[in-house]
Amino acid sequence: MLSKAAREETPEERLLPLKGKRSADAVLVHEVFTSIQGESTFAGRPCTFVRTTGCHLRCVYCDTAHAFHQGSERTVASLVDEVAALGVPLVEVTGGEPLLQASSKALLTALCDAGRTVLLETSGAVTTEGVDARVHVILDVKTPGSGEAGRNVDANLPRLVAGRDEVKLVLCDEGDYRFARQLLTSGRIPSGVTVLLSAAAPLLAPAELAEWMVRDRLVARFQLQVHKVLWGDRHGV
Ligand code: SF4
Repeated sequence: MLSKAAREETPEERLLPLKGKRSADAVLVHEVFTSIQGESTFAGRPCTFVRTTGCHLRCVYCDTAHAFHQGSERTVASLVDEVAALGVPLVEVTGGEPLLQASSKALLTALCDAGRTVLLETSGAVTTEGVDARVHVILDVKTPGSGEAGRNVDANLPRLVAGRDEVKLVLCDEGDYRFARQLLTSGRIPSGVTVLLSAAAPLLAPAELAEWMVRDRLVARFQLQVHKVLWGDRHGV
């Protein structure tokens, strides 16, 4: 769970690391590592992660607060080279919130150009307009329980493409489940886009979520965070 200090940071303090960037073309990156993809329909595949620094949100269950401030400026070319050297065809650009940096879009395009299968995990609180059409967008729609539902950019939903993009909802309680169910039946998510539901630890038991989904015959995919099952809250795995 997110610390009180992190939650109480002002909007200016949250964006401070990005304001200090020396080059607009560089990407402020917290870490690059290879692990097992833990979420999405790509779960279970080895994947290289490029985790960018900084996020303007403060979801109550956030487990990546370590990426809020620390990072180093990297050129797009050096990141593409590092990803290539790690030797995994699947790469995810995640955060933090990657789309707070315009240079992240150039990185996504360069990774596609280099022949990678590229995933973008984004909070849904920044427009996805202008993201390379080859990128698989995993749109992490915020629920009321996250504390950040008011930040969802509604225009991101109709941009999703079936067979390419996915919606992810992390649920904190039954109210969040009802929110997700309503979204699923609202027609606001393009037909055929996979919707993934997971339980926010330790707020909601995964088995309870699974039972609700079966009860309601929900057309969505239940997911466990595979990397957490394997390694708990360790960073960089
Ligand atoms: S959007 Fe992601 S990185 Fe940002 S606070 Fe929420 S969970 Fe954490």
